[in-house]
Amino acid sequence: MVSANNHRVAEWDGPIIVVEELRKRYGDVQAVDGVSFQVEKGEIFALLGPNGSGKTTTVEIIEGMRTADSGRAEVAGIDVGKDPRAVKHIIGVQLQSSAFFEHLQLQELLKMLGSIYRVKVDPEPLLRVVDLWDRRAASFRTLSGGQKQRFAIAAALVNDPTVIFLDEPTTGLDPQARHLMWETIAGWKAEGRTIVLTTHYMEEAEELCDRVAVMDSGKIITLNSPDALIEELIGRGFRRDHEVRAATLEDVFLDLTGRSLREF
Ligand code: ADP
Repeated sequence: MVSANNHRVAEWDGPIIVVEELRKRYGDVQAVDGVSFQVEKGEIFALLGPNGSGKTTTVEIIEGMRTADSGRAEVAGIDVGKDPRAVKHIIGVQLQSSAFFEHLQLQELLKMLGSIYRVKVDPEPLLRVVDLWDRRAASFRTLSGGQKQRFAIAAALVNDPTVIFLDEPTTGLDPQARHLMWETIAGWKAEGRTIVLTTHYMEEAEELCDRVAVMDSGKIITLNSPDALIEELIGRGFRRDHEVRAATLEDVFLDLTGRSLREF
């Protein structure tokens, strides 16, 4: 099931994503205003920023789902604007719940998605990793919100992608499910995949990401590793109001309720 594109990616030794001077306007709104960055192969890279700062538009241009007004986006050397179909074979995208046929079983849905990419899918490893193998014969409609979200993550892997895009992958999940998701994403990195995600959870970015870019008003205002950004802030004289304690409230919650997933 290794495609010509995957060979191309395996041999590609430059930055896996190159974005140069991207711009996109919607009427009066300059959603993306000259964004440039690169992502190295095997990185977990996050776009952070308040709502409306241009993260989704930027990511969707790289995925080939929206066209830029100007600028360039490349994945493994493929110009997304010129050849969006080629890019789709090497990327995995977390779809919204509305994209799934509600009445199909999870294992059927994964096989159907695989057929779109012309690959034969074995649902077992994909569903096991997100702890849904026991629900393989359940229809999507009967899943809880958190299970739907985990399924969408599994579905992003059907075409064995080299680069995975996740839009707020843990929003709305309980701490147990969030930790499972972090382990899943870290596992993909260990397999050599590259992950680009958006999140509003700073502890998630700090725990998971090699580098983060902070966007505001369509521009990247800073880009570095979480550690370096924190050090820079401290270097500018910042001090926390509260003393830092050896545990957080989340540690208390996980200690009391356990780390294993809860289903209802
Ligand atoms: P974020 O993901 O950071 O929340 P978005 O990329 O979704 O930001 O949006 C950036 C700006 O572009 C916002 O002001 C948003 O309202 C606007 N925008 C996004 N998509 C569209 C669209 N399809 N039509 C018009 N305006 C849009």
